[in-house]
Amino acid sequence: MPAVIEIIQADITTLSVDAIVNAANNTLLGGGGVDGAIHRVAGPELVRECAALQGCETGDAKISGGYGLPARHVIHTVGPVWKDGAHGEPKLLESSYRRCFEVAHQHGLKSIAFPAISAGVYGYPIGEAAVVALAAALEAINLYPELKRVVFVQFSEGAQQVYREAATRLGIPYTT
Ligand code: ADP
Repeated sequence: MPAVIEIIQADITTLSVDAIVNAANNTLLGGGGVDGAIHRVAGPELVRECAALQGCETGDAKISGGYGLPARHVIHTVGPVWKDGAHGEPKLLESSYRRCFEVAHQHGLKSIAFPAISAGVYGYPIGEAAVVALAAALEAINLYPELKRVVFVQFSEGAQQVYREAATRLGIPYTT
């Protein structure tokens, strides 16, 4: 059975999946937004493990334990800061999603939940970010047969609606 794509409104730190993705910064030492929320719930052991990972390039991803989170792992990725779309932002965001799926595959993970990487403080337009996210999920589902659940988590009803419209436009089936 092919993997299911879910588009839901939730706090990503509450999800019991194999991995939640963190929209981190290059230091991997914590920050605001979803990064701060993940570190608060995971507890101080997460920042200790992250310090040993020695940062992360924009467009790359690294995995850690989940500690106090219900999720078993956190995959930390660093999306691009949006300037105007002409500074390689789409390629870098695609790379973030691709690397998250690769890392998940290397660890045999079957379920993964993503926030809207770069679409908060980093300023990536949510509609364009949703298209990149959904296209990457479709590619990963075709590449990795062990992948059973890909969850796109939004904090707001508005963002969730944007994801649903993008999925419909791209002809990608999803559940809510
Ligand atoms: P970035 O710096 O990559 O833009 P942010 O953390 O500022 O990352 O925001 C990324 C997205 O995550 C935004 O759409 C924001 O609303 C959302 N977000 C923030 N906290 C949570 C959370 N606890 N669960 C799910 N999504 C969240």
